[in-house]
Amino acid sequence: MSNIVSEIIGEIKARDPNQPEFHQAVEEVVTSLEPVLKKRPEYVKAKMLQRIAEPERLMMFRVPWVDDQGQVQVNRGFRIEMNSAIGPYKGGLRFHPSVNLSILKFLAYEQVFKNSLTTLPMGGGKGGSDFDPKGKSDNEVMRFCQAFMSELFRHIGPDTDVPAGDIGVGGREIGFLFGQYKKLRNEFTGVLTGKGLNWGGSLIRPEATGYGAVYFAAEMLATRGETLKGKTCLVSGSGNVAQYTVEKLNEMGAKSVTLSDSSGYIYDPAGISPEKLAFVMDLKNVRRGRMQEYASKFKGATYTAVNPKLDHNPLWAHKAQCAFPSATQNEVNGIDAQNLIKGGVYVVSEGANMPTTPEGISVYLENKILYGLGKAANAGGVATSGLEMAQNSMRYSWTREEVDNRLKMIMKSIHKACVEAAAAYGHPGNYVIGANIAGFLKVADSMMDQGVV
Ligand code: NDP
Repeated sequence: MSNIVSEIIGEIKARDPNQPEFHQAVEEVVTSLEPVLKKRPEYVKAKMLQRIAEPERLMMFRVPWVDDQGQVQVNRGFRIEMNSAIGPYKGGLRFHPSVNLSILKFLAYEQVFKNSLTTLPMGGGKGGSDFDPKGKSDNEVMRFCQAFMSELFRHIGPDTDVPAGDIGVGGREIGFLFGQYKKLRNEFTGVLTGKGLNWGGSLIRPEATGYGAVYFAAEMLATRGETLKGKTCLVSGSGNVAQYTVEKLNEMGAKSVTLSDSSGYIYDPAGISPEKLAFVMDLKNVRRGRMQEYASKFKGATYTAVNPKLDHNPLWAHKAQCAFPSATQNEVNGIDAQNLIKGGVYVVSEGANMPTTPEGISVYLENKILYGLGKAANAGGVATSGLEMAQNSMRYSWTREEVDNRLKMIMKSIHKACVEAAAAYGHPGNYVIGANIAGFLKVADSMMDQGVV
């Protein structure tokens, strides 16, 4: 690592010493940009990397609400408006008890580069709350969403900041949030994406992140003259991203053999067929149950509970060719990455944000596998949110085929941008360097044009 790179990373870490996830994301990006900083010293002089790591604006607020027992509950709400150099702030809301500033800053920071890669005019943001929707009634979730939006509405708008879903925020939550925004503002605008189809949502938005991660894997495989047909795939998570990853893998002739939740994972060597996936969708989205039920329902499938004493996740040790981590950050560590390679995996396409630790990424790179990092591979979700914004502005809806074709084209162009940037800066085939450089250049040049603001 050059002096300048370590100085920049040190300066950013020293400013917020207790934010490990944020540091991890910054370190990955800044290290990847080393060849750019050598060629373009003006970015160093302009303190571009320090500026991009500092949110333009950060809101933290109290969210008080009343549960079904009449007890007052207090949660903390956040919105981080990270960067608006290329468009309005755009990025999801996460409701999960682990949510804190470090996690949201890492997500907002990643979002800036990801949105830049999509080719659409979107800045980066992220937000959420430490509220846990698990085990809450629909009425409790509604009251929480209304309380959360009662503060957030002042800061967002269709030309300012357009939130969407993420972990714990799906169609139900977006509905409650939108309803409260509309009531407070008395206007019907495309202020959130992931909306219901009857009230401004886009076809394919729920599917987009998972479908996009599969399209990205297909693009990577095409560089070796291969396709997904006949491949066995490990998928983690069982939420929005995981479900539509499995759906698209089935359509493309591949076989998914695992899914998980925070309690454990299922392994189904026969494959998660469309019928079994329909069961998972009902289980997770309607009944809000746990994946363990899958193994009782389908013969031949096994369930393994999370064992906190293990230093690895056995899900990643099954034999396969492809892996789609689609649950959460740092779910694949160095040992897991070694196990993936030992089990025959040579394609990793990340549906989740930063699911692989730095040690795991080093294992992928040393083994020269096809590794599509989250900010490139899962950009289909936000890209389709961008398409939802475009349809809302036009007050018009595209067909399923139109949106899916645009999504495919966007994933192709993200792949091409990564490949070209990696080659131009001397690291052919390295998607980490390619994605970070391609995402950075557009934002940095726009910031240069706009002066020190
Ligand atoms: P969901 O809430 O729909 O599903 C999340 C899944 O991950 C659930 O199965 C959940 O299990 C599991 N999970 C969550 N936290 C943990 C944890 N700490 N340990 C183990 N498992 C966990 O979220 P999404 O599918 O929308 O998001 C999944 C990932 O994809 C996230 O990293 C998100 O940032 C990323 N992403 C999502 C996009 C989108 O469009 N939705 C866009 C781009 C990226 P359980 O049911 O037990 O909570």
